[in-house]
Amino acid sequence: MTAASPQGLLARLDTQPRVRSFLTSAVASGRTSHAYLFVGAPGSGKLDAAWALAQALLCERDQAGGCGACDGCVRVARHTHPDVHYFAPESATGYLIGQVRDMLEDVALAPIRARRKVYIVDRAEQLRANTANALLKTLEEPPANVTFILLGTSTDVMLPTIVSRCQCVPFRMLSSRESAEAVARATGVDLARCRMAVSVAGSPSRAVEFLKSAERQEARRAMLRAVDALARADEADILLGARDLMGAIKAPLADVKSTQQAVLEQNADYLSRGALKQLEDRNKRELSARERSGIMEALASVRSLLRDVLMSLEDASDAIVNEDARDIVERLARATSTPGVVAALDAVERTERRIARNVTPQLAIEVMLFDIRKALACL
Ligand SMILES: [Zn+2]
Repeated sequence: MTAASPQGLLARLDTQPRVRSFLTSAVASGRTSHAYLFVGAPGSGKLDAAWALAQALLCERDQAGGCGACDGCVRVARHTHPDVHYFAPESATGYLIGQVRDMLEDVALAPIRARRKVYIVDRAEQLRANTANALLKTLEEPPANVTFILLGTSTDVMLPTIVSRCQCVPFRMLSSRESAEAVARATGVDLARCRMAVSVAGSPSRAVEFLKSAERQEARRAMLRAVDALARADEADILLGARDLMGAIKAPLADVKSTQQAVLEQNADYLSRGALKQLEDRNKRELSARERSGIMEALASVRSLLRDVLMSLEDASDAIVNEDARDIVERLARATSTPGVVAALDAVERTERRIARNVTPQLAIEVMLFDIRKALACL
């Protein structure tokens, strides 16, 4: 190990200095755990930290914290390293037993490029009885070259049998100001836009991605325009508007598809036909999960806008986060009342529940737009 300070992703973990120094010294001393549980509120940077730790563990120059420049570090940073596997629940109700089986089959195989393999298990609270049991034995005694990193919001909502097999690493909760500042440092974008991005995307890491995606920002603008136009819209306008919105929400998926294709091509030589088939199946599930998260982000854009309208009505205009849409916020505020906005916010929440229950997204958005129009018109 070299004594140089980390240059890779760990170095940039500046919102969680204690986690950063804990992980850096664990890697430097070669005393890492076989299973970590990163615990903290959404937006506390757990996923960034997981990728950073994966990079530090797979650095080909063995530089504590990762050199950030070797082939291994670069691949981890681009999320294309064949020895880092990211898992997220693939159904609305949690992890599928098939997903955990795929993971365990893979754990038994030797690493492809690096000396070890890393499994990042996002939203580990969604490992429920049967899926968790399948994982327990491996979590207790994983092969020597395997590191698990589980991410969860709170140990209270996780199965104790999982928690007890992991080393817990607590993440402190960031204020919305700290989150926006972290995004501003990472992107160089002005603080006002970063506040908006955090409010829409939900966490600093997702906000950074949001600010890099012209399509996701356009989907937000399309959503705001649709709400702005409601006062003058008839039924046909709303139905057309919902259709156009779905088009805008799906546009970013083209990028996801091409990234998936690139990863498939890069790994085609390494992987067996069975493993390639698995990867393709996983890609399909990822696409539908991405579509769902695009819809949730569009709903978050409406919620953020309506919250601003509420702030404007309550004479707290300095708390407005959608600076670039201040004209829309003020127009809506003039045309409605506090109870109207509260009812409109309820309509957004009902829509989130419908989407979670697999109601057709376009239908759910149509219903939401009608409900918001009705709510805002009730003075
Ligand atoms: Zn490296």
